[in-house]
Amino acid sequence: MNEIGTLYIVATPIGNLEDITLRALRILKEVDYILCEDTRTTQILLNKYGIKNKTMSYHAHSTDGKESAIINLLKGGKNLALVSDAGTPCISDPGVMLVSNVRKEFGNDAKVSPVPGPSALISALSASGISSAEFTFFGFIPHKKGRVKLFKEIVESDKVSVFYESTHRIMKTLESLDSYSPKCIVMIAREITKQFEEFVQGTPSELLKYFKDNIVKQKGEFVVIVSLL
Ligand code: SAM
Repeated sequence: MNEIGTLYIVATPIGNLEDITLRALRILKEVDYILCEDTRTTQILLNKYGIKNKTMSYHAHSTDGKESAIINLLKGGKNLALVSDAGTPCISDPGVMLVSNVRKEFGNDAKVSPVPGPSALISALSASGISSAEFTFFGFIPHKKGRVKLFKEIVESDKVSVFYESTHRIMKTLESLDSYSPKCIVMIAREITKQFEEFVQGTPSELLKYFKDNIVKQKGEFVVIVSLL
């Protein structure tokens, strides 16, 4: 019987393509297949490093059939790397179900190995100057159901809260924070590691003014850190 293959969970850059580890590059070169959230996005990274390898798509809408096929590859001794479009797979990104099913299938014999690297969450906290000895990570705040409850939890918490936000909702989120807790301190980490990276801090109303005065800055990717200093 074949030895079971390894599923590597490989972190990739969140903006600056130089942010990738030597081990990640080696694994991406050596595995039998790279499972990608979007093969076109990953191809840009592979091209930069001259990596020619086989890619397969695996994303949030992948079917059970796709997962069975992946598990069969592992049973056949194939080594696989899972990557998302940016950052660490499975952290507000596809992959959790796959890892969970691989662990269910192989139990303690499962070989799932992280290849650590960038994550927007940790990058934002690391440069924020806010003590992150204890924090709560909320991923993406829901658009509708549960939104009010979550904001109440954030503004009533004595821990730092961190969540991801998109261009489309950043102003709405600041408005919500302003209505639930006008005195809280919000740090926004925008476009981390990219050309227009910036960290801005203030009360929700100060940040609302900042982004209204600089409309172009409402664009991009955001990590929001809320503390009640
Ligand atoms: N798994 C990824 C990670 O570990 O960073 C996160 C994926 S999640 C689908 C994408 C969200 O992460 C974005 O909407 C944004 O909130 C945040 N994000 C990703 N890259 C970022 C960057 N360069 N600057 C700020 N936030 C970023």
